[in-house]
Amino acid sequence: METLQLNKFLLELYDISIQSHKKLDGYDNQNYLIKSRSSQKFILKIYNFSQENLSFIQAENDCLNYLSKFRKSLYPRPIKSLKNSYAEIVELDNSKKIIRMLSYLEGTFIGEVKQTPHLYKSIGRLIANLSKQLKNYKNHILSTRKWQWDIQYLRLNKKYLPYINNPSDRKIVQYFMQQFEENVIPKIDSLRTAVIHNDTNEWNILINRENKLSIIDFGDLTKSQLINEVAVTLTYASYNSKNPLDSASIVLKSFNKIIKLTDKEISLLYYLISAKLCISVCNSAYSKKVNPENKYALVSEKKAWKMLRFLVKTSPVYVENIFRKAVGKKIKKNKNVNELIKKREKVVSKLLSISYKKPIVFESSAFQYMFDNLGNSYLDAYNNIPIVGHAHPKINEAISNQSKKLNTNTRYIYEGLYDYSKMLLKKFPKKLNKIYFVNSGSEASDLAIKLALSHSRNEKVMVLENGYHGNTQRGTEISHYKFSQKKGIGKKDYVVTVPMPSLFNNKFNGSNKKIGEKYAIHASKSINNIAAFISEPILGCGGQVVLPPNYLKIIYEEIRRKKGVCISDEVQTGFGRLGKYFWGFEMHDVIPDIVILGKSIGNGHPIGAVVTTSEVSKSFEKGVEFFSSFGGNPISCAVGISVLEIIEQENLQENARIVGNYYKKQLKKVQKKFPCIGDVRGEGLFLGFEIVKENSKIPDTDLAQKIKNELRTNKVLVGSDGPYNNVIKTKPPLCFSMKNVDTVINSLEKILGFYFPKDIKLENNL
Ligand code: PMP
Repeated sequence: METLQLNKFLLELYDISIQSHKKLDGYDNQNYLIKSRSSQKFILKIYNFSQENLSFIQAENDCLNYLSKFRKSLYPRPIKSLKNSYAEIVELDNSKKIIRMLSYLEGTFIGEVKQTPHLYKSIGRLIANLSKQLKNYKNHILSTRKWQWDIQYLRLNKKYLPYINNPSDRKIVQYFMQQFEENVIPKIDSLRTAVIHNDTNEWNILINRENKLSIIDFGDLTKSQLINEVAVTLTYASYNSKNPLDSASIVLKSFNKIIKLTDKEISLLYYLISAKLCISVCNSAYSKKVNPENKYALVSEKKAWKMLRFLVKTSPVYVENIFRKAVGKKIKKNKNVNELIKKREKVVSKLLSISYKKPIVFESSAFQYMFDNLGNSYLDAYNNIPIVGHAHPKINEAISNQSKKLNTNTRYIYEGLYDYSKMLLKKFPKKLNKIYFVNSGSEASDLAIKLALSHSRNEKVMVLENGYHGNTQRGTEISHYKFSQKKGIGKKDYVVTVPMPSLFNNKFNGSNKKIGEKYAIHASKSINNIAAFISEPILGCGGQVVLPPNYLKIIYEEIRRKKGVCISDEVQTGFGRLGKYFWGFEMHDVIPDIVILGKSIGNGHPIGAVVTTSEVSKSFEKGVEFFSSFGGNPISCAVGISVLEIIEQENLQENARIVGNYYKKQLKKVQKKFPCIGDVRGEGLFLGFEIVKENSKIPDTDLAQKIKNELRTNKVLVGSDGPYNNVIKTKPPLCFSMKNVDTVINSLEKILGFYFPKDIKLENNL
């Protein structure tokens, strides 16, 4: 606004003659610092006119007048115009505006001063005192205010989600929105409410020369849950800090000294803080689109994202306990693991193994992180089933939406079955064009063998040593990994076993040159009356053993020449995990006749599938009806579609390639430093390293188990497998990051450094 015009207004409306004026930052209104000729300072605020704006400004003025009863210097005071009004409506630049004047508070924004414990303490005290003063304040306009900046109405921000460009960022916001629905909404009506300031950020709190704090900008006032005022304050105090929870704790402790918070209120803070951050990033994303010049709207964005990423890997139980400790409440203790195991074994067979010497009780999860009941966060470098990440909001949504609508079976017509089948088949070579849905990888193996037997007139099934294909009777019979064990059922006559081709443990003495060919020629000798040959492209249970080049090519040719069917078990290797390849068979440049899918196909929802050719399917169709009660049901199809969409949208296959290459490179560096790593192998995010006795190929099972268990102690999850259980397997959700790789590598080096301390070189100072 021009100076002349400003002079005129202020003189006419407030009898103030201006000495100087300065434009200040503002979110969606204009603010000026006015200095009068008599050297008094004021804040002039100009808003676009709307009836809604006017009533909120009147409510704000009313509240500030109410507060002025307490300590005048703590809050701005509305200034009446000559017309006896706290909000004037004027014509300015050809449009209607609302004008108001406030007293000016001296001080520096706390955003500009050093963040100290003392400051945090003062913030807690300031906000608690404000809450105390507002305790009995009532205002109809504020009571009925329903808008997106109030944490209780987090859901109103859903409309801004499309403005968050990066799908991997968007999923974090969606995750916290769902956590809020689950954990806060059911309790929200039982929480105490009050009029709250609702915007206690570092640019709304001032510190004066006497180190006293005051607070400005009451434009976000609303009636909400009192704990939301605390959550907003903790959010701003912590997202500026290197140790966010420490800073938040100081604020909380000091607030709680004045207003005691309940157990329930404290238990919700984790979700409320994340909700506040979601509101912040949603609105920043939106305002970036509609008003790219408004830098003020974006000041908090970076910090909010950083804090959200911190919270996504931090356990809610951990945060709750930190806050409980801060206010002097006892930390929540969870049930003892051993008691839980005892209980479990009363009803569940001991045959179901439990990982680790010190088993873990898991309570919740987020993407590549899992949280135990004690508040520990684990980096999941092991679980391949949640391929798009644990608790992915889109998967949750797909399950929940479809189950509210329809879940039935393939004897009725619903479009999801066609939509999903078409989408999935698009990922395969053209000749693989028929699909059967079941509920697990085991069922898929079982069905695949049925299909092969019905197509081929032969009788035998050829399998690889150490291969695993499932837990059904047939699955066990074709899984050397199971049937060959001491307590295993032994080899059935129809099963033909051939050696697992391994580059590291090359059965054929001499060079590794043409090793695939050597193993394939050796195996081909056993191809006689073979109906099906089944193998994984990289043997998971065999210890992440990558089949050598040309092996499958030669075998497939031989099998087909003898009228057998080639089956690729992609239960572990499928869906982009290998980075460069969407399916493992692509790595070997072959096209199978049947493909088995499981595990990650449903990100944890039980889906299995068999994909085959029309010819094989036709042979099967000569037999009896095939029916699976749950296979291909509408919920499973909805989940399957979501998994494929997420892999695409979040670019997860490419991430598996990039992060996988980096991971393998880093593991190879560790191998160079430590003589116990005999081999590093795998592809994409399906890797393994073999633990051996120093500089040999002799398996060191004991050390491998120690490493696995110590990684667990370091909060990193990996597995172990292979015929000697000496191969450490790592196959994380595909959202795994380079930073996550560094975490694994650092822990691994720390552990190995303990077993293989370097000789300390004594420097000769003489
Ligand atoms: N095939 C392979 C290669 C597997 O790894 C597994 C499971 N570990 C299966 C089949 C069986 O799948 P499910 O456990 O879902 O029945």
